[in-house]
Amino acid sequence: MGIRAVPNGETTSNPPKVLIIDDSIDVHRLLTARLRNEAFEIVNASSGRDGLQMALECEPSIILLDIDMPEMDGFQVLRKLKENPATANIPVLVLSGLTDSQDKVAAFDLGAIDYITKPFDFIELRIRLNAALRLNDLISMLARRAQIDGLSGLWNRVYFDNRLEEAVDSVARHGHALTVALVDLDNFKSVNDTYGHPAGDTVIQGLAKVLNEQCRSTDVACRYGGEEFGIIMPDTTPEAAQAVCERIRVGLEEQTWARHPERKITASFGVVGVSEDTTVQAKSAVWLEAADQNLYQAKQNGRNQVVASNMQAPKIRLAEAG
Ligand SMILES: [Mg+2]
Repeated sequence: MGIRAVPNGETTSNPPKVLIIDDSIDVHRLLTARLRNEAFEIVNASSGRDGLQMALECEPSIILLDIDMPEMDGFQVLRKLKENPATANIPVLVLSGLTDSQDKVAAFDLGAIDYITKPFDFIELRIRLNAALRLNDLISMLARRAQIDGLSGLWNRVYFDNRLEEAVDSVARHGHALTVALVDLDNFKSVNDTYGHPAGDTVIQGLAKVLNEQCRSTDVACRYGGEEFGIIMPDTTPEAAQAVCERIRVGLEEQTWARHPERKITASFGVVGVSEDTTVQAKSAVWLEAADQNLYQAKQNGRNQVVASNMQAPKIRLAEAG
């Protein structure tokens, strides 16, 4: 199976998970019974503390949060949910037995997207719940699209840079294997000049297709810009990554192009990585520079090839250290 240009979730058919945080068992029973025929998976938490824990563990699509709870009230829970990047984007619908509009204002100020007043009007609850879920789907879809390159359908550079940063941090702390590859189409300018830009676009899409076919599900393939692509390969040694890149190289070379069947398209690869248990303290920019050097070497050696090496810990120059 190849990678997906779009991550899991855009077309998922799993029912949305609704986390209900309320200290009243009656409310749990009532809501579970009333929402039984809806396409929801209900998860119950009976205290603020449990609710925070479950929000992290079960990654709900939406949270129904009671305001009036002992120990940790709904406002405190809401504040904590919004403070934690892992839960900050989960929409929270506040359940309030209070008619005091000040509480509603306070809940909105803290980031709630809507509220329901107890006792419940179930038609209203259902409508508001569905509206909130729909809105959230839309927001996550837009957020995903903003990270996808329009022409190739691969992840874009913004996403690549963020993921690389995470991966490199993880290597520095835990010593996982990691390999990064930069891929550059050979003589791409001449393809554009000879056959026109639509032909160039087709080549970009063709390479994206080969990347989708040949990368593993854990690889992150991106269009880095222009005719340059990047692949982050977590838990992959440079040797293993070299084999993947070799498959991509051959896959591209073997393509026949409808617009210019007489002309083959090739790419060069600069690959750099570390094996397990080798912690390398280097920033992502240093990794990219090292991969870029190998890419340059591949071009110098005559293009259409993979140059791979181990990532070296950067040498600290005395001037910098001093
Ligand atoms: Mg309560």
